[in-house]
Amino acid sequence: MGEETVSKNFIEQEIDKDLREGVYDRVCTRFPPEPNGYLHIGHAKSILLNYGLAQKYGGTFHLRFDDTNPTKEDTEFVESIKADVEWLGAEYGEHLYFASDYFDIMYECALKLIRKGKAYVCDLSPDQIREYRGTLTEPGRNSPYRDRSVEENLALFEGMKNGLYKDGEKVLRARIDMASPNINMRDPILYRVAHMTHHNTGDKWCIYPMYDFAHPIEDAVEKITHSICTLEFEDHRPLYDWVVRECEFDPAPRQIEFAKLYLTNVVTGKRYIKKLVQEGIVDGWDDPRLVSIAALRRRGFTPESIKMFVDMCGVSKSQSSVDYAMLEYCIREDLKMKRPRMMAVLDPIKLVIDNYPEGESEELDVANNLENEELGSRTLPFERELYIERDDFMIEPPKKYFRLFPGNEVRLMHAYFVKCTGYETDGDGRVTVVHCTYDPETKAGSGFTGRKVKGTIHWVPASCAQKAEVRLYENLIDEEKGVYNKEDGSLNLNPNSLEIRTDCYVEPGFRDAKPYDSFQFVRNGYFCIDAKDSSPEALVFNRIVSLKSSFKLPK
Ligand code: ATP
Ligand code: MG
Repeated sequence: MGEETVSKNFIEQEIDKDLREGVYDRVCTRFPPEPNGYLHIGHAKSILLNYGLAQKYGGTFHLRFDDTNPTKEDTEFVESIKADVEWLGAEYGEHLYFASDYFDIMYECALKLIRKGKAYVCDLSPDQIREYRGTLTEPGRNSPYRDRSVEENLALFEGMKNGLYKDGEKVLRARIDMASPNINMRDPILYRVAHMTHHNTGDKWCIYPMYDFAHPIEDAVEKITHSICTLEFEDHRPLYDWVVRECEFDPAPRQIEFAKLYLTNVVTGKRYIKKLVQEGIVDGWDDPRLVSIAALRRRGFTPESIKMFVDMCGVSKSQSSVDYAMLEYCIREDLKMKRPRMMAVLDPIKLVIDNYPEGESEELDVANNLENEELGSRTLPFERELYIERDDFMIEPPKKYFRLFPGNEVRLMHAYFVKCTGYETDGDGRVTVVHCTYDPETKAGSGFTGRKVKGTIHWVPASCAQKAEVRLYENLIDEEKGVYNKEDGSLNLNPNSLEIRTDCYVEPGFRDAKPYDSFQFVRNGYFCIDAKDSSPEALVFNRIVSLKSSFKLPK
């Protein structure tokens, strides 16, 4: 027991209390996205939190599209959101709902409130309503229409429903308290007139419920027990409770708020991402530099790594930002043991082993992951001509450079020791070929102990290496300057956020790789097959993360 009690977050403690006190005898949570954009890492936190709670308590998890606002929604987003939720492993099974399916119930609830004298039709203009509402320091004033009779309100509301009024001409308001210290309680609007076609209900309605009225009803109808949302809704909770109580729902769902997840130096606002997409600065909503779930997936993140990240962030009531490096830490940890370690050369120069017989080659047996035998091994051709990284050779090396330079001997990973004997340059003095000789005695795995070398470099066989494009990403945002420009609110973009290398070589073992498959490129980082642009003949890799880390695990 001990350990588990200690690690419970504040929401779990509240749920425990509710179950203990018999407020609920089961747990039902939901994720209620508005289908007006792609989900991002913050939503992933909400999804995994809600799904995780349902799982932990043997309860139910609902996916509900909060599609009560006909202006902004798009069915394209419904499909992408479903795909993202499923990819994260949050199983909703048959519990897929649309808030717009409850429009009839919401209408009935409104009638009930009118009959109870708890709602009235108001003719004030939007500006007047704002003016009458008062401020944080001053109470509001009652609307002159506040004391209309139940009959009059019923008739007018029916008129609203039947299309007798123009947009904005009349609204239905809750009759609560214009002097409440909480502005949300000053006779909030419940229904507005909007002559708009809804993607689900078509032209059936020309009145639409406001979020604060619709949301508690959606939760109550689905018998949600714990309605978990972010902190900005804390001040709306009295209204949430009022709606549930006055509409006489039993059992009543309970709203609990937690702090949003913010990541440093990334863009999550839909408005900003839309602009980046429209201006062609990024390659769509799933550009690997973004942190939409689709982008993270395309970049090569796994559901497990995102879950690890969300768990490490924890759940709290206080706002804070999490370092992007922590997300990188999680994907490294997740892939380390799971994925094969392959050789790829991103900036190639040729290495010729002059004493290796021309036209011959041998098959080396290479472990896929030295730390995880279960990943098996592969064979790799070794031959006279190879590609190595340009960086791994220097004509005049600085101190402590242990890789190739004239006269120096290094180990070729999984193969032999080679000693540099010379090099060729082009007209500009740029190195084109490095020459060496190998020592047949030094084959990896042969038990050779004759002498040691200080450097090990990777390589690919020149005759059968496959050419590939590799995309190296950096932060989309210039970290020095912060996310937003102080003067005009624009984004401080990092001009080097994408570097495309087109003449890379990877070893021959990638022919069967599928979209999203990821690999470690030894000595470099983790890379995955780009799902949009890669094909078996023309491989395209995204760098997920480099092997180097600046992140220190908090104690
Ligand atoms: P955004 O404005 O960032 O796109 P949103 O709140 O408008 O987000 P919704 O579709 O309304 O998006 O949100 C669905 C759910 O996701 C809500 O319950 C919301 O509280 C939660 N959510 C949104 N952003 C975050 C975040 N950064 N961290 C945690 N939960 C979030
Ligand atoms: Mg929203």
